[in-house]
Amino acid sequence: MIIAPYHLLPQLPESLSGLGELAIDLRWSWSHATDTLWQQIAPELWEQTRNPWLILQNISGDTLQHLAQDKDFIAKLDTFVGKHHEHLTQKGWFSETYPHPPFSQVAYFSMEFGLSESLPIYSGGLGILAGDCLKTASDLGIPLLGIGLLWQQGYFRQSLDDCGRQIELYPYNDPTQMPVTPVRDAEGEWLRLELPFPGRTVILRAWQAQVGRVTLYLLDSNDPLNAPADRGITAELYGGGPENRLQQEICLGIGGWMLLRRLGIQPDICHLNEGHAALAILARAYSHMQDHGTSFPCALTATRAGNIFTTHTPVSAGFDRFPPELLTRYIAGAPGAFGVDVETILALGRENPEDTHEPFNMAWLAIHGSLIVNGVSRLHGAVSRHLFQSLFPRWPEDEVPVIHVTNGVHMPSWDSAEADALWTNHCGKARWLGDLKDIEADFRQTSDGDLWQLRSTARQQVILFARRRLQKQLAAAHAPDQDCENAKTALDPNTLTIGFARRFTAYKRPNMLLNDPDRLYRLLNNPHYPVQLLIAGKAHPKDDVGKVMIQQWTQFLQQHPDLAGRMVFIADYDMLVAEHLVQGVDLWINTPRRPWEASGTSGMKVLVNGGLNLSELDGWWAEAYEPETGWALGDRQEHDADLKWDQQEAQQLYRLLEEEVVPLFYQQRDANGCPCGWVAKIRESMSRLTPRFSSNRMLQEYVSTLYEPAARLLSARSERAIVEGICQWQHDIRQHWQSLHFGELDVQSDTDTHHFQVHVYLDDLDADAVAVQLFANGDGKQNPEIYEMTRGDALTGAINSYNYTCTVPAHSTVESFTPRIIPHREGCMVPMESNEILWYR
Ligand SMILES: *Cc1c(COP(=O)(O)O)cnc(C)c1O
Repeated sequence: MIIAPYHLLPQLPESLSGLGELAIDLRWSWSHATDTLWQQIAPELWEQTRNPWLILQNISGDTLQHLAQDKDFIAKLDTFVGKHHEHLTQKGWFSETYPHPPFSQVAYFSMEFGLSESLPIYSGGLGILAGDCLKTASDLGIPLLGIGLLWQQGYFRQSLDDCGRQIELYPYNDPTQMPVTPVRDAEGEWLRLELPFPGRTVILRAWQAQVGRVTLYLLDSNDPLNAPADRGITAELYGGGPENRLQQEICLGIGGWMLLRRLGIQPDICHLNEGHAALAILARAYSHMQDHGTSFPCALTATRAGNIFTTHTPVSAGFDRFPPELLTRYIAGAPGAFGVDVETILALGRENPEDTHEPFNMAWLAIHGSLIVNGVSRLHGAVSRHLFQSLFPRWPEDEVPVIHVTNGVHMPSWDSAEADALWTNHCGKARWLGDLKDIEADFRQTSDGDLWQLRSTARQQVILFARRRLQKQLAAAHAPDQDCENAKTALDPNTLTIGFARRFTAYKRPNMLLNDPDRLYRLLNNPHYPVQLLIAGKAHPKDDVGKVMIQQWTQFLQQHPDLAGRMVFIADYDMLVAEHLVQGVDLWINTPRRPWEASGTSGMKVLVNGGLNLSELDGWWAEAYEPETGWALGDRQEHDADLKWDQQEAQQLYRLLEEEVVPLFYQQRDANGCPCGWVAKIRESMSRLTPRFSSNRMLQEYVSTLYEPAARLLSARSERAIVEGICQWQHDIRQHWQSLHFGELDVQSDTDTHHFQVHVYLDDLDADAVAVQLFANGDGKQNPEIYEMTRGDALTGAINSYNYTCTVPAHSTVESFTPRIIPHREGCMVPMESNEILWYR
C-alpha cells in the first residue's frame, strides 16, 4: 500500500533528502549549527520565521534543482546530516551517570508543550516548562517521551485595537504546516485510537514531533469520521466549559495511555505535569488488571508506585473539579468502566470518599494515584503541603508528603547567539550536556568588558526587534503616518531597558508600575538617567480584570505621547517575543502577589543573557535572591489581595528603581563607559544562578529524587503476593485503627536524657503493621524531632499490647514530647498510602 504523506513538502531530489530529516527535528529550535544552511536557502524567510520546516515547504522547484547542483551545499548538508546521526546515537549524561539505568522509560504527560512558535500548542509557563523538559531530556539522553494534544487552535493570538483593547484571534493550526508527522503502525497505516465515549466512539489520530532524541506524541480528534462536535474536542486549549475540559483530559490521560499500549511502549514512570492528565492513572491500573488478572485496588497499588505528580498551582481554586454526575457519565463509558464500580473511582477524586456530593478533584486523584508528589519551588512545596493537608488529617503540615523540585529553563533555547559565544569561551561547548559543577567558577573569570559588550549588543538587538514590531502594530491599527515614521527611531540603545512581560491577571499585578503614573513618568523621562520599558502580555479571553489592566498601559501611553520613544507595548506575547525580550533587557521585573507565583520561569530566562531580576520574593526568586545578584520586592510575608499593601509595595518598587537600580546602571562608569557595579551584579547573577536554575539541574533532580526512587518502589511491587500484602495491610489498618489506644505513659529523666515508656493496645492488628514514635516540637517553628520507639515485652493480662520505650537527649522538655502511632510497612509510603495517625494527646 502506498501511503500519502501528511505534509506539503516538495519532492526532494535524492541528494537533498537530508534536508527533510534536519527540518523535522525541532532540535533546530535550540541548536543553531544548521542555521547557515537555512539562511542560504531562503535568507528572507529565515530572518522572518526561523522555521526550517516552513522554509522547506515554501522552497521552489527551481531553487531545489539549483541547490542539488551546488557541490559545496551538498557537502555541507552531508556533514550536518552525519552529525545529526551521530547526535541521535551518542551516549549522554544519563547513560554515563547510570551505567545500569534505574528505569527504562518515562512518559511525561502535559496538556501543553511550548517547544517553538512553529508548533503553537501551549499557552504559557506550564507548556514552556514541558517543552524545556523534553529538550533537556534530549540533551542529557534521558529515556523520556512526551504525551500531549495537537490543538487545532492552540491558545489565542492577541492584537490591540486603536484604544488599546485586546482583540482575540484564533488562527487554525494546520497540521500539514507544522513539524509533526502521523504515527504509523507496523503496516504503515496511520495509527488511530478508538476511545469509548458515552453512546459513541471517538477516534483520535496520533502524531509525533521529534525533539532531538526525544519523541513527543500528540493526539487530536479532528478526524472526518468523528461527529462534528467531537472533531472539536481538541480545538481550543483552555477554551471550553467543564464537559469539554473533561473530554480533553480523557483524550490526554486515557487516550495517551492507550497510545502507549498500542505502540508497545511500557513506561515504568508516568510523570503527570499538573493534574490534567491524572486519568492516565486509571487507564494504567486498568491495563495492569487485565494483564495480571488482579482486582482494581491491587492494580492501583502496584502501578501508583510508578506515577509522579507535579503540582503547579498555589491556590486550591486552580485544581480542576468536575461534577460527579459528569464524571459518572464518562467513566461508565470508559473501557470496561475500569472493571470497578463508579463509586470506587469517584472516591479517588474526593477528600471525603463518603461524600457523594463532593466534586471530583483531579489533584486528589493524582495524589491518590501517585506515590511521589512535588511542587515547583521550595516555597511552593510548603504552600502545597498546606493545600493538601486536608487529605492527611491530624498529620503535621510539615509531614504532608509533597516534596519540591524547583523549575529551571532550557538555557540553550533562551540564550542569544552572543551569550552562547561568551559562555562557550569560558565553559566550553558541552556545558549544558553534563554535570554543572565547574560552571560557576569558570564563568566568573569573564571580564567586565566582555560582559558589558554582551549587554550593549543585546540591548541594541531587542530595540531593533521592538521597533519592527511597533511599526507593524501601528500600521495595522491605522495610526497616523508620523507615528509610524517615529516608530523607526523609538527607544535608545544606551538607555536602561526594563522588560515586563507576562500573563495579565490580577495576582501578577502587571500594573504595579502604574500605581503612581506621575512618578513613573518622571522615572522614564528623567533627563540625565532615563529609563525605557518593554511590555507584553495577554489576558485570558474571560479575564476582564486582566484586559482592563492591558488597557491601563495603553492609555497611559496615549496620555503621554512624548513617551512614545520610551515605552512599547509589544502585542501577542509568545515564545518568539519572550526570546527577544529575555535576551535584550537589562532588568526583568516581576510583581506577583506572594505566594501565587508557584515558581515563575521568565525571570530565569534572562540569567544566561546577563539580565538582572527585580522581583517579589515569591516562587523561584524567594530561594534565588541574594543582594549580590539582583533586587527583592516584598517582605517575605503573605498579604493576600490587600490593596493597601499593593500600594506600599509599589512605593518600594519606585524607590528601588530610583535610588538603587538607575544609579547603579548610570554611575561609577570606568574609562570605557562600563558601569562597574552593575557589571559585578551581572557576573554574580550569571555565574551563581544560571546553572542552578537551568533545566539541566531540574532534570538531574527529577532523575535522582523522582524517577529513581519511583522506579525502585515500582520494581519492589512486581510480585503479586507483595502487592496483595500491601492491600491487606491497608485494609487491616482501616479495619482496626479505631480500636487502637494508648495506656500508661511513664518518663524518667536524668541530666542528659529522658527515658519514655508507653503502653500500646493494638486490637487485632499485627504489631509490625505500625510504628510507635516519639514526636516533639510540633509547633511548626522548629524542625520536629521524631524518634522511633522500640517494642518491648507484651503486657501481661492484655491481648496484643506492648510496652514501647525510647531514650532521647534531654535538650527539649518532657512536655514537648508526644507518642504517636502511625501505619508502617517496608516499601510503602506513609502517610501517602495509609493516612491514619493516633496521638497520645
Ligand atoms: C516563560 C514564558 C512564560 C512563563 O512566564 P512567567 O513569568 O514565569 O509566568 C509565559 N509565556 C511565555 C511566552 C514564556 O516564554
